[in-house]
Amino acid sequence: MKYYIETYGCQMNVYDSEKLEETLKENSFSETSNPGEADLILVNTCSVRQHAEDRAFARIGELGRVRQRTRAVLAVCGCMAQRLGPEMLKTRGVDIVVGPDAYPGLLTAFEKSRATGTKTLDTTRDSGFRFRASSQRAAHGLRAFVSIMKGCSNECSFCIVPVVRGPAVSRPHQEVLEEVETFVERGVKDITLIGQNVNAYDDGVVGFAQLFRMTADTARCSRVRFTTSHPKDMTDSVIGVMSACKNICEHLHLPLQSGSNRVLGRMRRGYTTERYKNVVKAVRDAVPGISVTTDIIVGFPGETIEDFESTCVLIEELGFDSAFTFKFSPRPGTDAASMADDVPRAEKERRLSELISIERRVSSAKSASLVGTVMEVLVEAEKEKGEERFLLGRTRCNRTIRLNGSKEMIGRFVNVRVESSKGISLCGCIVRD
Ligand code: SAM
Ligand code: SF4
Repeated sequence: MKYYIETYGCQMNVYDSEKLEETLKENSFSETSNPGEADLILVNTCSVRQHAEDRAFARIGELGRVRQRTRAVLAVCGCMAQRLGPEMLKTRGVDIVVGPDAYPGLLTAFEKSRATGTKTLDTTRDSGFRFRASSQRAAHGLRAFVSIMKGCSNECSFCIVPVVRGPAVSRPHQEVLEEVETFVERGVKDITLIGQNVNAYDDGVVGFAQLFRMTADTARCSRVRFTTSHPKDMTDSVIGVMSACKNICEHLHLPLQSGSNRVLGRMRRGYTTERYKNVVKAVRDAVPGISVTTDIIVGFPGETIEDFESTCVLIEELGFDSAFTFKFSPRPGTDAASMADDVPRAEKERRLSELISIERRVSSAKSASLVGTVMEVLVEAEKEKGEERFLLGRTRCNRTIRLNGSKEMIGRFVNVRVESSKGISLCGCIVRD
């Protein structure tokens, strides 16, 4: 049996797809990159913005046509499956629709569909973590995600995550540490603890700061990082752990969303720009050289030109290493969807492109400031571009860097002198001791 998979959206979906693949491989499936030869076609979808849903729908339509030519079963999973359930099942070519908590039933649904053509819709919620580390996981990689939470209990007015993923549930810390241990034994060198709001972690025994320290101890010589954290939940204890443990990497993704307190209030983010700036200062003081990245939404309902300008000023002032920038997209079922979407589309686009050009200038300046420094790099892969062959590595601050060297270096930590930068990309040379 062969499966073909496409994954859209955030790190949680990437993680879920890895888990799905591992289950399929344990059941004698192998992967194909050609949907035309697959027995099972899987599309793992994202609902965070309308644009993400439109892209996924277009792809599901194309894959539905492939499925009609072959004997494949087409399954849609992820946030759109959860949000649109029955409507998604009516989409031409779709055989199975399973929400994020219902993946354990996917194989049975596949077998039923093959045998009798039965369609399955399963969007049941389950508050537990049903998947455990398995024999197939991470056999292939130097990097791995370990999920520590699912869902989110915040009430950001623009966000669909709590609607489609349910309230926050923390995974028992013993399970997290077991998975980390398994990965380390298999040679994983860079571990990211993931969740929508990891610093709200609380399994009833330990909080995030303790879990993070335990993870760093368990990971020994492997690197450890996390994403995503929330400014309102960033505590001194977490910052203390980040500065104390040698294998914790100098990177913090801390979504700001807006530089205007008025907009942050309407977004119900639970912090002010002053609080945000204090957190960034505290982190930079405690962890020198840390890279700080962020997310920004432009054109939120009621965002005035002055609000937008405050965001631009703050981006410059805080000197982010990089930022993901988005146009506000009203999501059904969220509070912001019932606010007047009063920033015209063309104006949202104008603000977005202005912000992108500021962000590029700021992040290029940040990259340029790294030229001449020596950084620890994990060599991850060899790449080919035309005649050229080169290595790609990752710095502790989560930047990719291009280097010369042979592929025997893959998997090793090396010291690299940064020679040049372009945008957020770096180029460097290995420093021999
Ligand atoms: N949990 C993270 C946090 O609290 O910052 C972010 C999760 S969300 C999947 C990733 C990013 O998508 C958000 O930080 C936000 O910038 C963006 N986003 C979420 N909902 C959005 C919407 N309705 N319109 C535009 N961007 C949105
Ligand atoms: Fe969405 Fe806010 Fe939760 Fe992030 S913290 S997932 S933006 S509700």
